[in-house]
Amino acid sequence: MKKHILPLGLLLVFEAVAVTLWLTKDNLFYLFNFSYIGLSISLGMFLYIRRYRHARRVVQLLVGLYMLVYLGLICNENMQIEGFWYYLFTGVFEAATIHYAVAKIFGPLLFGRGWCGYACWTAMVLDFLPWKVPQKPRKGFGWVRYVTFAASLIFVAALFLAKAGNIERIMFWAFIGGNIAYYGVGIALAFILKDNRAFCKYICPVTVFLKPMSYFSLLRIRCDESKCVSCGKCKRVCPMDVDVTDNSRKRRNGTECILCMECVRNCPKDAL
Ligand code: SF4
Ligand code: SF4
Ligand code: SF4
Repeated sequence: MKKHILPLGLLLVFEAVAVTLWLTKDNLFYLFNFSYIGLSISLGMFLYIRRYRHARRVVQLLVGLYMLVYLGLICNENMQIEGFWYYLFTGVFEAATIHYAVAKIFGPLLFGRGWCGYACWTAMVLDFLPWKVPQKPRKGFGWVRYVTFAASLIFVAALFLAKAGNIERIMFWAFIGGNIAYYGVGIALAFILKDNRAFCKYICPVTVFLKPMSYFSLLRIRCDESKCVSCGKCKRVCPMDVDVTDNSRKRRNGTECILCMECVRNCPKDAL
């Protein structure tokens, strides 16, 4: 029973947020939204505790599909970074702004890049590709993320400056087009570099928020140096090339950790 306290506690936190937002904003959507996400994450944790191998993928599919299909396609809410800029400029505190604040800007101070490991609908598809562990050394073109970040901001700012009509409709089509582009580039890069997560490492504009915030993350994988035998297995199975045996915040690729727990599952000495 003791080990189930964490998923139960997390569910209660999500329920508290759900009820608070429902009552303060007088909108039933928030009750449904946060209850669903809380239940999905708690279920994943429960399955992980039960040592179900695909627990992370279950959460990824439950949350990712909900965001992409229900919020994005059915409710017409642009949940990509362009949607964040759009709602920010209009001053509307809507699902996309709440989502960015919780999952990608302030949340990473607590749970690092948990979003990238358990909820992102782009990675949800990329993680089905065959190169779960990178087959080639890391490349040096991570700077591309700043170009895509700037492009997303310029695109939305230009719509406002040009006083484009029916921006809401444009944002919906930008969501469709943006996702097709993300999947297309992500899958092509994975094949070229033999690395499922190449898009996350070099292209994704959201990492401009995620990386600096997750540097301070409370939740981190730590290594018990007294147990570690330096076999290197953890580094060989890591999809993000993190040097997890180094406990400092400056560990190699430390802000890339997506908390997938592959290193923990594979450590022969239970040192992580
Ligand atoms: S880096 Fe970007 S594409 Fe990759 S999982 Fe994170 S948010 Fe998704
Ligand atoms: S897998 Fe475990 S024992 Fe091996 S290097 Fe990593 S932490 Fe140390
Ligand atoms: S394998 Fe370990 S260090 Fe690498 S991303 Fe997953 S949790 Fe982080």
